[in-house]
Amino acid sequence: MEAIRAPRGTRDVLGDESWKWAHVLKVCREVACDFGYSEALLPIFEHTELFSRGIGDTTDVVEKEMYTFTDRGDRSITLRPELTASMVRSYLEHDMRRLPQPVKLWGWGPMFRYERPQKGRYRQFQQVDFEILGASSALADIETIDTSMELYRRLGISNLQVLINSVGCPNCRPAYRAALKTFMESRLGEFCDTCQSRFERNPLRVLDCKKPGCRELSESAPLVVDSLCGECREHFDVVTSGLSEIGAEVRVDNRLVRGLDYYTKTAYEILAGELGSQNAVCGGGRYDNLAEAIGGPHVPGVGFASGIERIVLTMEGQGAHPGEAPRTDVYVVTASPDSHMAAASLLHEIRVSGISADMDYMNRAVKAQMKHASSIGAGLVCIIGDEETSSGTVGIKDMTSGVQESAPREEVLARLAAWRESRGTGR
Ligand code: AMP
Repeated sequence: MEAIRAPRGTRDVLGDESWKWAHVLKVCREVACDFGYSEALLPIFEHTELFSRGIGDTTDVVEKEMYTFTDRGDRSITLRPELTASMVRSYLEHDMRRLPQPVKLWGWGPMFRYERPQKGRYRQFQQVDFEILGASSALADIETIDTSMELYRRLGISNLQVLINSVGCPNCRPAYRAALKTFMESRLGEFCDTCQSRFERNPLRVLDCKKPGCRELSESAPLVVDSLCGECREHFDVVTSGLSEIGAEVRVDNRLVRGLDYYTKTAYEILAGELGSQNAVCGGGRYDNLAEAIGGPHVPGVGFASGIERIVLTMEGQGAHPGEAPRTDVYVVTASPDSHMAAASLLHEIRVSGISADMDYMNRAVKAQMKHASSIGAGLVCIIGDEETSSGTVGIKDMTSGVQESAPREEVLARLAAWRESRGTGR
């Protein structure tokens, strides 16, 4: 029988890489704390309608990429493809409008999209997500970009390119939509089937089509920035000038549209050269009509999501180190079969005192235990055999200097603590 493998587009995060992930999440948590976001732990599956109405049912994500199934209660359920719609759903469901505004939430976890897997693009991937709900001010847009850039800075990532655009609002979009339709109409047959089918329902999606032919055609399409209403233009001007005020280097890209329908006004992407073709480490923007689209009142919002796999790939590409993974401090070596229980009890005491420790469960010989201690990077080895048990002592070997001495059993914990203190490895 063939061994079962993980499904296409999923990955196991193990060993050193999982340490990097833990580091990324730790820094996210610190940034969230410093910028005033509270953590929201939301369900991994939601009613399909949340995404079809929120993200838009003519988007690639909803039309082609969702993991949707009918559950045993005959409900249509979808594994979340992103977090923003769930954040807004949660804000509405818990009536967070009664709290002081804005409400700032952050979260993280797996997202699911049925995409063609390649480097940096998976079917199950993890995002960290930061949202400011209830604020329509352009200052909130600036803050989300500042937050993401600070996150990358603390992770040791640099050389990022921030692309920003305004995608307008329901006031100015009808005029733009009409201009785009006029442009498309004369060459409709040259667009791909999906774009043709979206021509009536949602022509703006054409700008997001990845097919080379459609990309080339839309190169000469009218720009949304030329149709912005006064309010959107002013908002955009405040965001761009505010960003230069805080020293963020951004480039206005009038062709940037995001793959999700809910964006209004600000849309941005942050690119990292190290990522290759899937070069977006972060995507974000404003979504003032999302709450209404999913059946709530008007709640303006702005935020971003960043893929953890791509953050880690960028860190690796730039040689940004998350520091050493924690190692086991002490290894307890059993030098005779009769000293197993004494060793286990010492091991327990060491761990309870807050020092990491381990011992052998494989019946290895003393020499092999020492070798194993060295292979796991233990700094000290405690040796217990018949001799030590009868004299009430423990052998302590410093694995760096090779020096071994004998200590009274009751002094062992204090010695270990002093050793760790001197190494500065306290956690
Ligand atoms: P989006 O939700 O599409 O705006 O994407 C936000 C960020 O999530 C992107 O910039 C990527 O860092 C990450 N991301 C999106 N889709 C994937 C995927 N299929 N695999 C890995 N990361 C992804």
